Amino acid sequence: MKIDIISCQPRMFEGFLRESIVRRAADKGLCSLDIVDLRQYGEGKYRKIDDKPYGGGPGCLMMCAPWFAAVEDALSKASPGAKPRVIMTSPGGKKFCQRDAEELAKEEHIIFMCGHYEGFDARIRTLATDEYSLGEFVMTGGELAAAAMADSIVRLLPGALGGGAEATASESFAHDSGMVEEPQYTHPAVFRGMAVPDVLLSGNHAAIEAWRKAMRRKAVSAPRPAAPTPAPASTPAPVFTEFDAFFMRMALREAEKAASDGEVPTGCVIVEEPSSPDASPSSVRILGRAHNQAEGLVDSTAHAEILALSSAFQACGNWRLTGTRMYVTKEPCPMCAGAIALARIPKVVWGVSDPKRGGGSVFGVFSHPGMNHHPQTASGLLEDECRDILQRFFRSRRS
Ligand code: ZN
Repeated sequence: MKIDIISCQPRMFEGFLRESIVRRAADKGLCSLDIVDLRQYGEGKYRKIDDKPYGGGPGCLMMCAPWFAAVEDALSKASPGAKPRVIMTSPGGKKFCQRDAEELAKEEHIIFMCGHYEGFDARIRTLATDEYSLGEFVMTGGELAAAAMADSIVRLLPGALGGGAEATASESFAHDSGMVEEPQYTHPAVFRGMAVPDVLLSGNHAAIEAWRKAMRRKAVSAPRPAAPTPAPASTPAPVFTEFDAFFMRMALREAEKAASDGEVPTGCVIVEEPSSPDASPSSVRILGRAHNQAEGLVDSTAHAEILALSSAFQACGNWRLTGTRMYVTKEPCPMCAGAIALARIPKVVWGVSDPKRGGGSVFGVFSHPGMNHHPQTASGLLEDECRDILQRFFRSRRS
């Protein structure tokens, strides 16, 4: 594998080149790594690589010419027939995950473009085959991100790690199952009163393997630190406005419709995010409103939230519902919570929490680190009304 990293701060890679797994893999002949100084493609005597943005604005932007020259030069050195992947590190890119590392480890040639805080001329993006980010945060440059990605890719090359394929295969996240490793221990058997589980000291390999399997399963079924932690008592109660109450009452009316159809009464409304805290309800567009219709439509997925989401996608012509807010009478179930997170809804307000099947409070879907979007949530708006309608429904059903 050949890796080129194009950067305007090549010295940032000095330690990486000396010490990393990439260095060791290069020594074993598994890969070659070149750090390319973008400045050598700069313009004029001063090797200029950036300039002021058109239309004004602070700072400078990286210019097209040096980037095109650098990437094209790297591409021209690719072996015949090879189709190098050109990866741009960018806070707006797809979040880099283990599956991407596994996929990229199969490539012959990867070129990393390290962005910089000042930003790129937008046309430079056309050079990239992929844009990746390490997470929802901004760094001053793409160098550390490129180094992190190169590390995660190169260690997957056969022979890069001492233990061979096994060392990588049993690791956390391998096989993309969200599988996590079992806890492991080394000498001493007791440290500050904390003892290693007896089974590991037993020498019984079958028992040890069974224990490891069980611990892995347990770790998977219990969401990781992600912890759907119930809000601590000190968390201040959310402050709701008349705007919020207006739309929750609308969601309640939807729930009433469900009840009169013999459906579990939940209602949901999706509106545009108000432009100011004291905006009036009439100033925003209603993008979706719906009630549970699982029975009527003979569809277990026809929950109020899912139906309201469908309307909102239509209304917005977009599956990304950024700039919206959802009101729902009961806490979304895990299915709906997942759909809400996928739709990028920034804020979800519900009336009554579901202590058995709450997608947020029980399953932790909204805060799970595996989800790449984490909606802000608030609960307790018109809670009594929202609970009452459910209780009345289930009471009448029982009688
Ligand atoms: Zn649901």
